[in-house]
Amino acid sequence: MSGGQWVDFRAVKESVCMQAVLELYRIDWLKRSGPHQLRGRCPIHPRGGQDAFHVSLAKNAFQCFYCQAQGNILDLVAALEQCSVRQAALKLQERLGLSGGWRSAPSRERKLVPEKREENQPLGFALRAVDPCHPYLAQRGIESATARAFGVGFFAGRGMLSGRVVIPIHDELGRLVAYCGRSVDGAAPRYKLPAGFRKSLILFNLHRAAACGEGRVVVVEGFFDCMKIHQAGFPCAVALMGATLSEQQERWLLERFRRVALLLDGDQAGRRGSAVIAARLAGRCSIEVLDLPPGEQPDQLSSQEIRQLLKQETKI
Ligand SMILES: [Zn+2]
Repeated sequence: MSGGQWVDFRAVKESVCMQAVLELYRIDWLKRSGPHQLRGRCPIHPRGGQDAFHVSLAKNAFQCFYCQAQGNILDLVAALEQCSVRQAALKLQERLGLSGGWRSAPSRERKLVPEKREENQPLGFALRAVDPCHPYLAQRGIESATARAFGVGFFAGRGMLSGRVVIPIHDELGRLVAYCGRSVDGAAPRYKLPAGFRKSLILFNLHRAAACGEGRVVVVEGFFDCMKIHQAGFPCAVALMGATLSEQQERWLLERFRRVALLLDGDQAGRRGSAVIAARLAGRCSIEVLDLPPGEQPDQLSSQEIRQLLKQETKI
């Protein structure tokens, strides 16, 4: 998606009716409950509340009395696609062929919203009824209490994340900004993130880690590594979502913690990442580099192994 696109939210809202959106997403099970009203099972959350989802065709709006989702057509698309309202407008423009005038140069009369590339926008909804006891999580060694603490679980509802384990991602202020969907059956991609999501502006679990009030933070690569470290008794852990440290992530580490323990994967990328990060942070905070044997990752370790590893302190 090109960064220079402009979206006229009002134009999209005015030109797309709720019925078109329902058809687009094949939500065909709603029943008439009034001259301009539909009602039925909610397409956003799984199970529960058979008649909870209400649509007003007159107002072009929806409301679910079970998961509390509500809004206009853009809010509905954002909820179904797990994306921002802006991305929802772009998707509707594309999918419904609304390549109309609002993509042209901005004018003062229109409410035009430029793409904000400086931050991940907070999501306007949260998924309900995710299952923290799904076998996939057990298989990865994640206890249900840990999954609950992170809000992680299997999502059986509809939309882009259907049939995946969803991992809520928050910004540094604790605002939910995205869900990552991990496939449970080997389907590609293994990790599905919303289009336009900027990993470099997020340090996964930072809002919880910073709240621990500990001086030492454990830095890992992935979501599951982070959950396993937490589960082993070290709640002050963050994940880079990769083996590189962005400038923003670096600032947060230095501002919020005095000691940084690097526990990246035991592969080449992890080793190299550790060395680069340690060199960048050297002299600015206390650093421990914890090397794993080749091929090992923190999420494959038992809680006992993690505790042993994190007790060692190899300061450089
Ligand atoms: Zn709902």
